[in-house]
Amino acid sequence: MNLPANKSLGQNFLTDKNIIGRIISAINPQENETIIEIGPGQGALTEGLLKAGANVIAIEKDERMPEVLTKMAEKYTGTLTVNLADALKINLATLHNGPVKIVGNLPYNVGTQILFNALKNPQSFSKMVFMLQKEVVERITATHESKNWGRLGVKCNLLSNTQKLFDVPPSAFYPKPKITSSIVELVPLKRPRYEMEEKKLDHLLRKAFGQKRKMLRASLKGVLTEQQISDIGVSPQARPETVSLENLCKLSNLI
Ligand code: SAM
Repeated sequence: MNLPANKSLGQNFLTDKNIIGRIISAINPQENETIIEIGPGQGALTEGLLKAGANVIAIEKDERMPEVLTKMAEKYTGTLTVNLADALKINLATLHNGPVKIVGNLPYNVGTQILFNALKNPQSFSKMVFMLQKEVVERITATHESKNWGRLGVKCNLLSNTQKLFDVPPSAFYPKPKITSSIVELVPLKRPRYEMEEKKLDHLLRKAFGQKRKMLRASLKGVLTEQQISDIGVSPQARPETVSLENLCKLSNLI
């Protein structure tokens, strides 16, 4: 690690070779396949992708990195294109004619926003492998009846098959973060798991999970009647974290 970390860009560089190897195995890069990498930093993951012969399109916000990365890439047959850009401001789906894999050890401060950016066009990606805070990965992979079930889990599970792969301890990075991270895999579905209108579902989720401790009959007042809620087999006394994805979609379809 040659360059000092920039905290405001959420920089914690991976240094543990064993962990890097396990993440590369999870991505399973193939010769000549195109892979999009968000936040390559100094190339801890990029190198393994290029070594396997993959062609990497990297999006990095730190202007110090393109030079370091381009130099590293000279050794490998896989090609590297570095876009000096903010992954929040570009449409990730337009970077390549998909579906392609998208990967990254994401900056913690904007990790979920980057994930949502990728999920805007799930069909553009064959697989996503991301490192995020352990607590965020638990929300992504949650199901109903778990305290972690909320808007993030609902959206991710509506659009993809999610799976937590493994935890990564602070000792795997320089500088060491204060928290444990996890690797999560999302495999986008061809179409959303249940029929719904995104705007209506978003509205329902904001209302229901915005006041998580309240019963649905209170949090959805003015949105749905108690009768409408019970007609689809959900108790108006239920709290949102106990309601399944299918029933949340059904409720939103009544709006
Ligand atoms: N992949 C490297 C590694 O594992 O060592 C670096 C990971 S570090 C946690 C996150 C990286 O994302 C940094 O290189 C940072 O500069 C970059 N980054 C932060 N915000 C970004 C954004 N909005 N768009 C693109 N890259 C960003």
